[in-house]
Formats: sequence, C-alpha cells, structure tokens
Amino acid sequence: MNLPAGDPNYVIAPQPRPALAVADSPRLFPVRRIYCVGRNYAEHAKEMGHDPTREPPFFFQKNPDSIVVDGVFPYPSKSKDVHHEIELVVALASGGCDIDQGDALNHIFGYAVGLDMTRRDLQGEAKKLGRPWEVGKAFDHAAPCSAIRRAQEIGHPAKGEIRLAVNGAVKQRGDLSEMIWSVPEIIAHLSGLFELQAGDLIFTGTPAGVGPVARGDRLEGSIAGVGTLTVVVG
Ligand code: MN
Repeated sequence: MNLPAGDPNYVIAPQPRPALAVADSPRLFPVRRIYCVGRNYAEHAKEMGHDPTREPPFFFQKNPDSIVVDGVFPYPSKSKDVHHEIELVVALASGGCDIDQGDALNHIFGYAVGLDMTRRDLQGEAKKLGRPWEVGKAFDHAAPCSAIRRAQEIGHPAKGEIRLAVNGAVKQRGDLSEMIWSVPEIIAHLSGLFELQAGDLIFTGTPAGVGPVARGDRLEGSIAGVGTLTVVVG
C-alpha cells in the first residue's frame, strides 16, 4: 500500500513498497519478501568447495528494498570481491504453509531474471567465523531484477539455458534442468519454514561460473523463455 507522504497516521513518512515491472502491463508487482536458495546447481556447489549431494535445501533472505530495477548496480562499500550470480526468480501470486509440491506451481504469478549480487569476501569471512550472511548477501542494491513474465503467458520453465555475460564474454552458463531442487520442491520446503505470501520472490540459485565484477562492467543475463536483464556496475 502506498500511503501519501505526510500521512497523519504515521510519525514519519512511510516508505513506498518496492515493486517490479510486469512485462506488457502498466501495473506493478509489489514485493513482500525475497528468499534465496543456496547451492542449487551441482557445478556451482563444487566451485564453492562443497559436495553437491542432495542435502535438504537451505535458504537466506535479501531485503525487499534491495531490488534494483533501473539497471544500475552501485559497487557496494567494504568489499573488494563482489560477485555476480545469475538466477531464475519466482514471483508468488499466493502463498501458504506446508504447500504440497503438486500444488506449488498454482501459487506462481510469474518468473523473472535476477542477480544475487554477493560481497564474496565478506560472505567468506562470515562463513569462516560462523556468522550470519547478511553483510555478504543482503546489502543495499543486492538484487537487480528484470520485469516479471506471467506464468499464464510463458508457462513454468523447468529447462532451458540460463547464462550471464560480462562485457560480452559468457561467464556463467547452465540449464534450468540442472537445479538440484526444482521450483515445486523449493516452494514445498520453504513453505514449511515460513508462511509464504503473495508478493514473495524466490531466487532459485545460480549455475557455475560466478566471478567478480568491476566498476563499468556490463552484465547481460538471459534465461530461455523468461527474458533478459542488463545491469551496469556503477
Ligand atoms: Mn545465489
């Protein structure tokens, strides 16, 4: 809900709700929460030094207001190793607790192309010290995202190329079919831990090839059947 600044019911002006564009629509998708799945492609788990066996999925969150929709990712503070992670993003039209895998797709509004930007050096330090991941994952502007394509238009993509090029050179390339946990399985697991609601986004993990970005880089992501995302590092 967007309340006008100066609303007498609030002691300070309430912030507008973060929102994503919807392809071919003048109306926006209001973002409630951002959930992310860790290590969901075997080759990426391996490159990060982990065994890609099918352990239960694990999750972290980003802040809804870290969504970037204008194509400019400002290089964040306190890091010298900021990585790109291209990901399929699921946008929910409805939610619930303990959602059945067989019913999971019925809750999806659509899909987008997202970047789980990561301060890898700070994340690595947090891992080593057994600390939370927020400084590595949930910083300002950490979630650039494309417009959403409606599932009623594109269906539910379970295979197809997902890739990211940096300054024209392909760095990440995989296929949605390589996800260790499928989208219905992710929704089933996640809804056992949190009550999912309309407006929630789920970043579903990244294929291998993550690497550092530098100021001035042009990141071009694409997912077959979903769309593209272009971001410049500012
Ligand atoms: Mn990720």
